[in-house]
Amino acid sequence: MARDRTFVIAGAGHAGGRAAEALRSQDFDGRIVLIGEENYPPYERPPLSKELLRGDDGVERTFLNPAEFYAGKGIEHRPGTRVEGIEAEAHRLRLGDGEALDYDKLLLTTGGRVRRLTLPGADLDGVHYLRGIDDSLAIRKALAADASIVIIGGGFIGLEVASSARARGCKVSVIELQDVLLGRVADAEIGRLLADVHGAHGVEVLTGIGVERLEGEGRVRRVVCSNGRALDADAVIVGIGIIPNAELAEEAGLEVDNGIVVDVFGQTSDADIHAAGDVANHPNPILGHRVRLESWQNAQNQGVNVARNMCGVRVPYAEVPWFWSDQFDINLQMAGAPESWDRLVWRGDPASNRFIVFYMAGDVVVAVNAFNLGREVRIAKFLIERKTPVADADLADEGIKLRDLAR
Ligand SMILES: Cc1cc2nc3c(=O)[nH]c(=O)nc-3n(C[C@H](O)[C@H](O)[C@H](O)COP(=O)(O)OP(=O)(O)OC[C@H]3O[C@@H](n4cnc5c(N)ncnc54)[C@H](O)[C@@H]3O)c2cc1C
Repeated sequence: MARDRTFVIAGAGHAGGRAAEALRSQDFDGRIVLIGEENYPPYERPPLSKELLRGDDGVERTFLNPAEFYAGKGIEHRPGTRVEGIEAEAHRLRLGDGEALDYDKLLLTTGGRVRRLTLPGADLDGVHYLRGIDDSLAIRKALAADASIVIIGGGFIGLEVASSARARGCKVSVIELQDVLLGRVADAEIGRLLADVHGAHGVEVLTGIGVERLEGEGRVRRVVCSNGRALDADAVIVGIGIIPNAELAEEAGLEVDNGIVVDVFGQTSDADIHAAGDVANHPNPILGHRVRLESWQNAQNQGVNVARNMCGVRVPYAEVPWFWSDQFDINLQMAGAPESWDRLVWRGDPASNRFIVFYMAGDVVVAVNAFNLGREVRIAKFLIERKTPVADADLADEGIKLRDLAR
C-alpha cells in the first residue's frame, strides 16, 4: 500500500519542489517529506540575477508556490533542515537536528554550491557570491548608484549581474580569464557579440585576464589583475561556477562522477535512490552522451520526470537541453549541447541583435544560439531532436519559414 510508504526529497529547491508536487499529482498517497536547508519554500533562481536583483520584483515572486501550498497537499516541508547522511542499506537519513528519518524511496535534489575564490583577499567584506535569495538581497544592497562593481567571471551569472548593476546606475567591470565570453558553451563569435552588447551599455569587459589578489582594509577596495592593473571596487561579485552537492551520495557509496550518476529514469546505483536537477549526471538519448545540466528547464522537467518514475511510471527523461539568459535588451537562448560542429550557419544579421545561428555537424543541426528570436529556437529544437537533414542555404534564407524545414 502506497499509503504506508514514505518518499523523502533531500533538497527543497526548484527540482525538489516540482518533484514533491508531481508525486502528489501522480496520486502517490503516502508520506512525502521535503527537506531543505534554506529558510524559504522552493523557489526559482533565474530572477535572483535579474528582477529581484534590480528591485523590480519581491522575494515571493520567486516561489514556485505559496508557502502554505505544501501543507495543503499533505507535503511535509521542513525548511532550515539539513540532511547530514544517508544509511542506504537501512533506508534511513540522519538530519541536522539529530532526527533519524526512514524512507522507502529517496530523491536527491541537492543542486550545487558556488565555487569560491582562493586568492589573497578573497575573504574581505564586500566580496559576494550569488546562489540563493539572501545572496541576491545582499548584492542588491551593494548596487548603489555610482558604486564601482567588479565582477569576476564572465559567465551567465556574472553577465546578468553586470546588466542588473548597470540598470541600478553602477560602474561595472567584468574580468574573464578566457579570451572570449562564454567560451566553454558557445562559439567565440557569440562571446564577441555579447561583449559588444555589454560594451555598448557601458560595461568594461576585460577578457584573457586573471585576478591576482583583492586588496582593502577589512573591506575590499581594489581588484589587482594579472596584468598589473588595479580596479577600484566598492563590491566584488564572483561568478566562477558551481560544484554539485554530491557528497551525501558519495559518502553513501553511490556512483558519483561530475555529479550523481543516474540512468535515463533518474535512478542512481541504488534502486531506491534517485537524483534530479543540477546535481544529476544523466544520459541524454537525443545527444547520445551524458550531461549534467545547470538550467531551469532541467530542474523543472527532470524533477517531475523522476518523481513519476519513482511512482513506477517508466518514462525516460529525454529533452533537447534549453537555456536562456537576459542581459540588457538581449534575450539569449541556447538549445542543444554542442560537443563538436563543423560550421555555423547564420539566419538574420548578427549586428541587428536579432538572429539565430545553427551549429552544423554534416547536414544536421546539433545546437542553436539566438539573440531575441526565442520563437525560432523553439522550432529549431525539433530539428535538433529529429536530426532532420537540412541545407545551409535554406536555414540561412529568412524567406523560408523555419517551421517548414522542421516538418
Ligand atoms: C542567479 C541564478 C540565475 C539563473 N538564471 C538562469 C536562467 O536565466 N536560465 C536558466 O535556464 N537557468 C538559470 N539558472 C539555473 C537554475 O536556476 C538552476 O539550474 C536550478 O535552480 C537548479 O535547481 P535544483 O533544484 O537542481 O538546485 P537548487 O535550486 O540549487 O536546489 C537545491 C537545494 O538543495 C538544498 N540542499 C543542498 N544540500 C542539502 C542538504 N544536505 N540538506 C538539505 N538541503 C540541501 C540547497 O540549499 C538548495 O535549496 C540560474 C541560477 C542562478 C543561481
